[in-house]
Amino acid sequence: MNILFLSPEAVPFAKTGGLGDVAGSLPRALAASEKVTLMIPGYATEEIRGAAAETVDSFLLPGEGSPQVAVVRKATLSAGLSVVFIHNQELFGRAGLYGDDAGDYPDNFTRFLFFQRAALQFIARKGLHFDIVHANDWQTALFPLLMRMAPVSEPLRRARSVFSIHNLGFQGIFPAAAFHESGLPEHLFSPEALEFYGDLNCLKAGIIFADRLVTVSPNYAREILTPEKGFGLDGLLRKHAHKLLGILNGVDYGQWDPRRDPFIARPYPPETTAAKRENKAALLAELGLSAPAGTPLLAMISRLSQQKGIDLLPRLLPRLFQQDALFVLLGKGDRSLTNDMEALAARFPERMRFLNAFDEKAAHRLQAAADILFMPSVYEPCGLNQIYAMRYGAAPVVRATGGLEDSVVEFDPASGQGTGFKFSGNDLDGIMAAVQKALTAHADPGTWDRIQKNAMAMDFSWEKTVLRYLDLYKKSLSEDAQHV
Ligand code: ADP
Repeated sequence: MNILFLSPEAVPFAKTGGLGDVAGSLPRALAASEKVTLMIPGYATEEIRGAAAETVDSFLLPGEGSPQVAVVRKATLSAGLSVVFIHNQELFGRAGLYGDDAGDYPDNFTRFLFFQRAALQFIARKGLHFDIVHANDWQTALFPLLMRMAPVSEPLRRARSVFSIHNLGFQGIFPAAAFHESGLPEHLFSPEALEFYGDLNCLKAGIIFADRLVTVSPNYAREILTPEKGFGLDGLLRKHAHKLLGILNGVDYGQWDPRRDPFIARPYPPETTAAKRENKAALLAELGLSAPAGTPLLAMISRLSQQKGIDLLPRLLPRLFQQDALFVLLGKGDRSLTNDMEALAARFPERMRFLNAFDEKAAHRLQAAADILFMPSVYEPCGLNQIYAMRYGAAPVVRATGGLEDSVVEFDPASGQGTGFKFSGNDLDGIMAAVQKALTAHADPGTWDRIQKNAMAMDFSWEKTVLRYLDLYKKSLSEDAQHV
């Protein structure tokens, strides 16, 4: 199969969260047996600028006001895998992917419509052939629609489209005017298509027009069909539920492996967690935290957003700190949550550190140092940090939602089975009870060793998961394409 994988971000070129990891690793896994082209916008990141890519095309697209130039660069990553960057200095030559400290870029609709149109134009100009087009999140959600629209659609006429929802909370909602200025056919601005209570909703295009839908865990695939977790699209998703599948994300253990992690103080194999203590000591020294050996270190690595349950911390941490425990938060995002976290860390200078950064290296070091990874997300489509944590021998304490529920097994002291601890609901006592279970287990070296070994033995590699995608692609190729 010839697969086009469209994403607004992909490791190692550009990343703001889990989609970056997935778009970096799934195409690579697919490329073991198929021919895969990854396409992302040509942002101004070092990794994109420095990629060994050659310019393969350049052309004008009608833009707002005057036509805009698209410059296309391409690099070969491995035998079956190439990456294509769509550049436009004005739209993508910026510091952020989707925004900066002032918030989202106001022209995000224009930026990602340009990306998708340029991708299509490039395919048409070069007569490229694909069997499967796999688009991801709202930034590429219009593609399954655009690829069915004449005249540029010819090379993709027989292709099937798959659309992945990595987070239903981000729908790409813009004022109606954005739609009317876009040149898209006016009849598409209706509640049956792209209109959403008077606005434009990009995600709807992917849901309605893709041949198949995927979301990133089986549990989240069920949750998004409910009013509680459906973000206003549960009705539409129920209508298209027959083409929806939940596949738990895999991870790239090439990037996340404590045995050979270049970022951590002391690499360690799964058989011995003793070296993990050295990583912990090194990190604590670096952060100027001191505590008796054996003091549990809890960590969070997260976007600072309501979704991640950050607002719990000002109520939870004072209770946690009634006993011996340390807490390190690595996070960047929402300004008011940032202020709250700074205030909280200032209140507990001997117990807590708040690293206000998006720092890949720090994320690895924290995973290697932590005893417990805390993920109280309000909702979590898949979640990757708990999966990385397990491989690094840190036990996840998570809310039983979305992919957290699917990937973490509650530890059962009787059988010695399980990899972490889970809670449901918002009641602080209930959440603290789950944390307490983890602390109690941590205080008993035999029990903790067992949990660590169980967690480190879990295998979420793409090798198995990729077969589910291949199966899905093959099934969709055997069906009729949707007609727009
Ligand atoms: P989401 O995609 O909702 O942000 P995931 O848990 O699926 O959440 O993925 C988050 C990814 O982003 C992980 O690879 C994690 O290590 C990374 N990450 C999140 N916040 C930071 C940060 N402040 N610094 C470095 N990496 C981060």
